[in-house]
Amino acid sequence: MHAVREYVGNIGKSAASILDGMAVTFSYLLRAPITTQYPDRTSKPMMDLIPDRYRGFLWVDMDICISCLLCERACPIDCIHIEDVKIDRILVTSALDGKPTPKVKDPTVFDINLYKCMYCNLCVEPCPTGAIKFTKEFEGSTPHLADLHLRLVGPERKQQVLATAAQYEKKEAAKKAAKAAEAAAAAAAKAAAPQTEAQPAATPPLPAAADEGEGAPS
Ligand code: SF4
Ligand code: SF4
Repeated sequence: MHAVREYVGNIGKSAASILDGMAVTFSYLLRAPITTQYPDRTSKPMMDLIPDRYRGFLWVDMDICISCLLCERACPIDCIHIEDVKIDRILVTSALDGKPTPKVKDPTVFDINLYKCMYCNLCVEPCPTGAIKFTKEFEGSTPHLADLHLRLVGPERKQQVLATAAQYEKKEAAKKAAKAAEAAAAAAAKAAAPQTEAQPAATPPLPAAADEGEGAPS
């Protein structure tokens, strides 16, 4: 009798459990759908639906990058590789606070290995000009790994940067040559100048030797 009661009780529990689950399922029949029909039936463009702090692709505004290498050093897994050249000092406007920031180097290579990136944001935080940041771009699937190796300095920009660097080097070389010529002229002028330094006084003559017998007791 006890076994029958337990059997019937188990059936009741199973039925209650099924009804519990189905109640949740049926409740969705009465709610408005919240799914987004991507990509062609969104209420707004997808970029406007993505939160501002979303981390999509990394991107760098090369015009305001001052090649300080802080992002490269901050990356814990070496995703970023930068090579640069010296250029004439210019001022760029920081995207963070609008302040002018001096720029004395320009990257000729700025590569980011997105396939290694773990989207930790550590490279973005120290950037003094806000040049490096995450975009809202999210459609990054590709069958080619190489597509995820971002080369942010294209060949055209590289040529421009190298030309600017060559001008800078020429200017610096001219400055150095002018300085060297100035120093040589100063040295030559010094060598040709009459010696005006005071000659050391002639050694005073020794007092005449005392006559023999002078002062001697008579
Ligand atoms: S987000 Fe993190 S892992 Fe990715 S490049 Fe920046 S520092 Fe490196
Ligand atoms: S931290 Fe910013 S300014 Fe410095 S090299 Fe990286 S992107 Fe350029």
